[in-house]
Amino acid sequence: MSKVMIIGAGGVGRVVAFKCAQHPEVFSEILLASRTKSKCDVIAADAKAATGHQHITTAAVDAENVPELAALIRSFGPKLVIHVALPYQDLTIMEACLETGVHYLDTANYEPKDEAKFEYSWQWAYQDRFKEKGIMAVLGCGFDPGATSVFTARAAKHFFDEMHYLDIVDCNAGDHGKAFATNFNPEINIREITQNGRYYENGKWVEIPPHSEMKVLNYPDIGPKDSYLIYHEELESLVKNFPSLKRARFWMTFGQEYLTHLRVIQNIGMARIDPVKYKGVDIIPLEFLKAVLPDPGELGENYTGQTSIGCRIRGIKNGKEQTYYIWNNCSHQAAFDETGAQGVSYTTGVPAMIGAMMVLTGEWSGTGVFNVEEFNPDPFLDKMNEYGLPWHEEVGVDLEF
Ligand code: NDP
Repeated sequence: MSKVMIIGAGGVGRVVAFKCAQHPEVFSEILLASRTKSKCDVIAADAKAATGHQHITTAAVDAENVPELAALIRSFGPKLVIHVALPYQDLTIMEACLETGVHYLDTANYEPKDEAKFEYSWQWAYQDRFKEKGIMAVLGCGFDPGATSVFTARAAKHFFDEMHYLDIVDCNAGDHGKAFATNFNPEINIREITQNGRYYENGKWVEIPPHSEMKVLNYPDIGPKDSYLIYHEELESLVKNFPSLKRARFWMTFGQEYLTHLRVIQNIGMARIDPVKYKGVDIIPLEFLKAVLPDPGELGENYTGQTSIGCRIRGIKNGKEQTYYIWNNCSHQAAFDETGAQGVSYTTGVPAMIGAMMVLTGEWSGTGVFNVEEFNPDPFLDKMNEYGLPWHEEVGVDLEF
């Protein structure tokens, strides 16, 4: 029985709040805090009504203000902070956790606001300070990174002596009926997918122009989809933690309509993250664009279809070549019916809750800064099956690569 504090009241925050509230035996008291308290209040009321959890409170906080955040943490006294606000706040929340001696968990690595660059170096630099304080930081515990990292750890533990080739395949075959919308925070999402593609091969990172490499891949229960090589943050920690990997890539599906919108957004300068003067005021085009795009948290109601995300791995077991595929499919409609949020928020929020459960029940323990593939994958994967994200695996499968 532990107190947990959730920061962020977007689509992911909603799912984390609902899923924690379903397990009062672990999360006995929940504080949901975010910049806009009214959003927390709506989620808290919905989660209480859906689950009957009696102890969910809310608060306003600017997670970029360390003294303010540390004061709130002190007044509530949680054992763990689950950070599902934005990657810009990773470091200030880690600082507040250090100041108060509270464990930390997030779903996305740090990104400076003025540079579309995301990497683990900033957060890995906290290793010694977290160790000295005797607390843990769990990095990247959403779906990808998160479940995909745990899937890879399962492959390494049970199916391979050496993993050589890893392809993470992320398909969203859903339809929300909008001409253009992103499935999570538009600013973060557009920064991520307009970058150069990057993959790891033979000890080096190879960079390619955005969306310049495409393969038609087959996804279970979905069929063939155009899948584009993009950079994704878990590649950085996976090649470090599984050094036998000769190549690691990440593929994501995009429809032609989506890519056309994205190209136009870039061509007309709306993806810029540097300030421009408008009527005497500095505005950042991408922040303005976020304000006019559909709120990803509101996409759920008419969202049909499903996501399919998994890992396809080739390597060696007992001296013989081995292939392996592990994946989860998630229905947008089922996610919405349970939590009021669509499948992308659901597939992120459920692993964040399970990771929190692993820390609070002692299944995952240690001091310092960890990526999730460093822990025992088995108890986490058992909970995924139980708590809404059942997974499947196949050995000796045609990987299409
Ligand atoms: P949203 O934009 O919907 O929600 C973000 C929330 O953070 C909002 O409630 C926002 O408040 C709050 N927030 C922003 N700045 C601050 C601040 N300074 N202090 C306190 N609260 C703040 O995002 P999503 O819910 O879609 O995504 C949440 C996180 O999940 C993101 O970091 C995203 O990168 C990550 N993610 C990870 C995935 C994975 O698989 N690993 C997949 C998808 C998302 P306000 O309402 O006032 O704006």
